[in-house]
Amino acid sequence: MKFLVADDSSTMRRIIVNSLNALGHTDIVEAEDGAEALKNTTGVDFILTDWNMPNMDGLTFVKAVREKDKKTPIVMITTEAAKDDVITAIKNGVTNYIVKPFTMDTLKAKLEKIIK
Ligand SMILES: [Mg+2]
Repeated sequence: MKFLVADDSSTMRRIIVNSLNALGHTDIVEAEDGAEALKNTTGVDFILTDWNMPNMDGLTFVKAVREKDKKTPIVMITTEAAKDDVITAIKNGVTNYIVKPFTMDTLKAKLEKIIK
């Protein structure tokens, strides 16, 4: 299973990648923003994306993906403050969401549930 992790924070990407590794997933491609993520969707089975990123934000990225791909699961990682925007995200094709801040254990549990 190939994962795409898009976040402008390298620390956040590391947390997500470590959590995926802990769940046994090592086929992971990272992107610093939505634009880079959009160039790296080939062969990806699961997408985890931040909302706030430079160049192309997460919502714009999701919309672009959904224009041609309706079924790859997309999890949006959002801040507590932006929780209300989740409805907007879901309307635009986001499968599930994770609220920041989170610990690696919380993320692992949540990912495990979503991936199943
Ligand atoms: Mg960000």
